[in-house]
Amino acid sequence: MKRAATMAFVVLASVSCGAAEPVPPARVPVTSTTAYEKPASPAATPSPTAPPAFKAKVSNVSRDRLPYSWRPGCPVHYRDLRLITLSYWGFDGKPHTGELVVRETVTDDIVTVFRKLYGWRWPIKQMKLVDAYKADDFDSIEADNTSAFNCRRATGSSNWSNHAYGEAIDINPRENPYVTASGSTAHENAEKFTERPMKGKGVINPGDKVVKAFSQVGWEWGGYWSGAKDYQHFSKGGG
Ligand SMILES: [Zn+2]
Repeated sequence: MKRAATMAFVVLASVSCGAAEPVPPARVPVTSTTAYEKPASPAATPSPTAPPAFKAKVSNVSRDRLPYSWRPGCPVHYRDLRLITLSYWGFDGKPHTGELVVRETVTDDIVTVFRKLYGWRWPIKQMKLVDAYKADDFDSIEADNTSAFNCRRATGSSNWSNHAYGEAIDINPRENPYVTASGSTAHENAEKFTERPMKGKGVINPGDKVVKAFSQVGWEWGGYWSGAKDYQHFSKGGG
């Protein structure tokens, strides 16, 4: 560190000396040619190991993208939903592109949170529309799929779920199961993830940075519910 600082000082000092003198015109093209011939300089180009920048694209969603998850009579029209195509960090330690459908009014919330998750390289198993599972919540969870919109009733209720409004998301549902008050899960592959707090790839814990990121945009975590806990679930305003 000391050596580098000294060298930087020397360079700065020489630049500063040069600047004090009248600058010979010939130096300008030399400098710019040098810069041009070295496009791979660390300052100009990311290192080969740096991941691609986070991207999120918000678009209208057509009826045919939601063949199973939307139908007439759902509480939010599909024209009020949006498809977000976005970067996420995979369990394989690589960047991926996933898709989420949410209500138009919450797209900024979701992009804000997922930009953070990607920046932290916080891992997500996979992210497909629930239509890839014919809108079957059980099958999507069993596949550890992260998804948002699904026009369905709340678990164990005749009321619409917040997912039916496009204002809820389930993240890594295997690592973050819905756990009944008696401590059980409907998914055998999630049985080792029913305790909190616990360490593990893609696991959400009370007060962690994922919970905080959602909280900052007004989304509450199902892990704070009394009785049954829904560790995968975040929703706008709770519920
Ligand atoms: Zn949910």
